[in-house]
Amino acid sequence: MHEPGASARQIFEVGKTVNTPKPLSLIADENGRISEKPSREEAEKAVRTLIRWAGDDPDREGLLDTPSRVTKAYEEWFAGYEADPIEILKRTFEETDGYDDMVLLKDIRFESHCEHHMAAIIGKAHVAYLPDHRVVGISKLARLIEVYAKRLQIQEKMTAQIANAIDEILQPKGVAVVIEAAHQCMTTRGIKKSGVTMLTSRMLGVFRDNPTTRREFLAMVGSPSGGDVSFL
Ligand SMILES: [Zn+2]
Repeated sequence: MHEPGASARQIFEVGKTVNTPKPLSLIADENGRISEKPSREEAEKAVRTLIRWAGDDPDREGLLDTPSRVTKAYEEWFAGYEADPIEILKRTFEETDGYDDMVLLKDIRFESHCEHHMAAIIGKAHVAYLPDHRVVGISKLARLIEVYAKRLQIQEKMTAQIANAIDEILQPKGVAVVIEAAHQCMTTRGIKKSGVTMLTSRMLGVFRDNPTTRREFLAMVGSPSGGDVSFL
């Protein structure tokens, strides 16, 4: 039993193989038939249907512009389909003056949406790698997280996608990714567990093989905040 607001954690070690979706301009249906992305008008019409499904009147004054606002919001929330993670990480620097220690970016806030309910996932990512000659600008790492977050996601997949992209493109000695996030589909519906944070991690290379390196990373990240994700 959890006390109200108590932290319940699920910890997953995320699997290695992840298919990175290509940017979408064409969409495949469940039978594999390819179709064009729907028009803005079609998307707005679908929002009107959902408003009616919720039980309201899309023609009342307060809701008149809502389909157009929602469609625009979707362009922002799902902008990650338009970006290519490989392009983002491709520009690397080799002039590191012998720097071969850990590079860590912590507390990178992100917003995403779960692919099961299209409800918000809000959390923080911590990303580290041990360079092997090549480093990348830190803004590029933040951007990489943004690109994967701005898609329909499950947290386990997103964690693996970020780690695998860095591993494949930078080819460092190791990569570590920890993500802690609150899922609105859990906090606002269904079992309604407020304060539940999900923690996922993916360790590759030295972070997986060398306990000292892993411990160093986890100490630098600090104790993940658990039930303390206070932005929901
Ligand atoms: Zn969900």
